[in-house]
Amino acid sequence: MEDFSQFYMLSGTLIRQRISSLLLRMQILDGKLVSKTIKENIKEKMLFIEKQGRKIPHLAAVLVGNDGASETYVASKVKNCAEVGFKSSLIRFEKDVAEQQLLDTIEKLNNDEDIDGILIQLPLPPQINEEKIINSIHPDKDVDGFHPLNTGKMVQGLPSFIPATPYGILLMLEHYKIETSGKHAVVIGRSNIVGRPISILLNSNAYPGNCTVTVCHSRTRNLKEITAQADIIVAALGIPGFLKADMVKEGAVVIDVGITRIADAEKKSGFVLKGDVDFEQVAPKCSYITPVPGGVGLMTIAGLLMNTLTASVKK
Ligand code: NAD
Repeated sequence: MEDFSQFYMLSGTLIRQRISSLLLRMQILDGKLVSKTIKENIKEKMLFIEKQGRKIPHLAAVLVGNDGASETYVASKVKNCAEVGFKSSLIRFEKDVAEQQLLDTIEKLNNDEDIDGILIQLPLPPQINEEKIINSIHPDKDVDGFHPLNTGKMVQGLPSFIPATPYGILLMLEHYKIETSGKHAVVIGRSNIVGRPISILLNSNAYPGNCTVTVCHSRTRNLKEITAQADIIVAALGIPGFLKADMVKEGAVVIDVGITRIADAEKKSGFVLKGDVDFEQVAPKCSYITPVPGGVGLMTIAGLLMNTLTASVKK
């Protein structure tokens, strides 16, 4: 019998070399690094603000109920405010709070001179009309950028509060100087908080922007054929591991917005976070890719801090 062991060894080496050469080309878009840089810049601005005796930015976060993910997100936002030297107030309600009580609280916050930004952690329980709540926030304090006035301004390319996640994605593209002009961007998802705004921002006449944008959603046919043409893919649909290698062309930039908690008894927290991209499969084909965790989630907080600073300085 012939000895094939050397052949297998050689082919294994070649495969490893091919993989590492692809991996070498691929760069991780590091949310930890970029958000740290942005926070350092904010801290520097805060030193100047304090020296001049100007107002310290103050974020009010409203949390209804005790959903685990919402608790974590709000706690992280409050912690990050403290890290950069902002004030923050956390206002909590039981999950059966009446809609009017929330509206009254928002009115008080709207009229409170010391509050610069108001954040209502979503989702809200079913007895609350989310749209009514969002519309009751004063547009000048709408640091989540969900108020229709801010959405309208964003669509027209006017200065406005941009929703924190799309803002964070733009900051990330900017940090890594990723070319967007003339590129084909495919956004998967059309929600008001991620998919729709990032699709508008990526096609705006600005940098980052000037892409030709295709928006895909749950009714899109032949999605794989569309994503396979994309130079930039933003996956924001909430289905873990949805984007596979055969849906991505070589050299694409992949932004994974998805965050889904998957039960994992081996973890202390009892879960792991999964993105919408099958990272192991897709990463070797990409020029740039965001990991989950450590990617867009951290950039969302950076976007919120930037909006809060703007809200405070604008006064
Ligand atoms: P959503 O449920 O509001 O919207 C999902 C979108 O995906 C919809 O527009 C739907 O049409 C589309 N979709 C669903 N199934 C699809 C399919 N099979 N093919 C193509 N499109 C499909 O969700 P969302 O609020 O936009 O959030 C999306 C994901 O992003 C979630 O995992 C969420 O947790 C995460 N998220 C992360 C951050 C962050 O900071 N990283 C912020 C917001 C949301």
